[in-house]
Amino acid sequence: MTTQSKIALVTGGAGFIGSHLIDRLLAEGARVTCVDNLQTGRAANLAHLGSEPRFSFIEADVIDRLPAKLRLGKTRFTHVYHLACAASPPHYQADPEHTMLTCVLGTRNLLRFAEEQGARFLLTSTSEVYGDPEVHPQPETYRGWVNCTGPRACYDEGKRAAETLTFDFARAKRVDVRVARIFNTYGPRMRADDGRVVSNIVCQALGDEDITVYGDGSQTRSFCYVSDMVDGLMRLMNSEPAPGAPVNLGNPNELTVSDLVDRVLALTGSRSAVVHRPLPIDDPRRRRPDISRARDILGWEPRVDLQAGLEATAAWFAQERRAGSTLGAELLTVAAE
Ligand code: NAD
Ligand code: UDP
Repeated sequence: MTTQSKIALVTGGAGFIGSHLIDRLLAEGARVTCVDNLQTGRAANLAHLGSEPRFSFIEADVIDRLPAKLRLGKTRFTHVYHLACAASPPHYQADPEHTMLTCVLGTRNLLRFAEEQGARFLLTSTSEVYGDPEVHPQPETYRGWVNCTGPRACYDEGKRAAETLTFDFARAKRVDVRVARIFNTYGPRMRADDGRVVSNIVCQALGDEDITVYGDGSQTRSFCYVSDMVDGLMRLMNSEPAPGAPVNLGNPNELTVSDLVDRVLALTGSRSAVVHRPLPIDDPRRRRPDISRARDILGWEPRVDLQAGLEATAAWFAQERRAGSTLGAELLTVAAE
């Protein structure tokens, strides 16, 4: 299939990763429709596509029956990238019932739609399926350690159920599927009030506000720049044959939250002080992807190093500040120990 003949549906495309993915798909010649309920996404992320004839936007919640205008007459979608779901702990915990239903009902709706259309389907799952991992780094074969009754469960268990549904459809030969387990990803177009660590501390540093470190800052994460993530998602979607199992996508460069804060303070020249806040309940102690599978079957690995990615992110947020955008919005909070 040539890229020009690809017709892609991207759910969650007004969000951070989805909007970058749409840009890449359009740049490669595809036609793209985005479905998003604008819960955490922003129309501003897609505003530059206003006059693009190969792009259309439909505001809808994937929990509900999908909009009739998605049926394109004789034309069929060839690819469904299913990203719709709040991804930041304070946002996905704000309405946990909706988060769980987005993962379960939303994924079922999109799988059925892909089946009807004969489209290939990609689910963006998460490293959160590994919970607070006892195996480090995390390979796809690790089954995880998740608290199914905690405040993160609406997302962790929701995504686990979404993966289950996806592979059930594949086993029944109803849909050709791919599942990406995304590890912490950052970059321009995150919301200033997203609540995740990179956007929080970059915005705090730029405003010379207190930097909030949850717990003692010794917990680790591994941060992947968004252009690398989009590249991995597209390679996974286009992979032949289907991997038949989830694929980790993330940057194995692991560091503590305190190290991340030091880097952001250094690159912004900020006068911010560091303040400690309680560690959120069930906050994973460490996280680092084993990306051997992605290397082997996709020929993929991240190329943007943390310094370059943080500089680009800080430059983008600085520009947003100058434009007087949403900075200063009150940060949502998560349940803490
Ligand atoms: P985001 O919050 O910026 O984007 C999510 C988008 O989905 C938003 O535009 C939101 O409005 C939309 N959405 C949420 N629920 C919806 C619903 N019920 N119906 C329609 N639209 C809905 O988050 P992101 O970081 O861009 O994450 C995108 C996907 O990648 C998510 O599925 C997330 O779980 C996954 N992921 C992201 C990360 C990361 O570090 N960014 C890590 C792991 C997994
Ligand atoms: N974190 C922090 N300060 C913040 C936001 C987050 O110290 O202002 C911590 C958080 O407790 C976690 C890590 O940074 O240990 C990554 O948090 P994030 O919400 O970005 O992602 P996730 O926990 O889902 O990996």
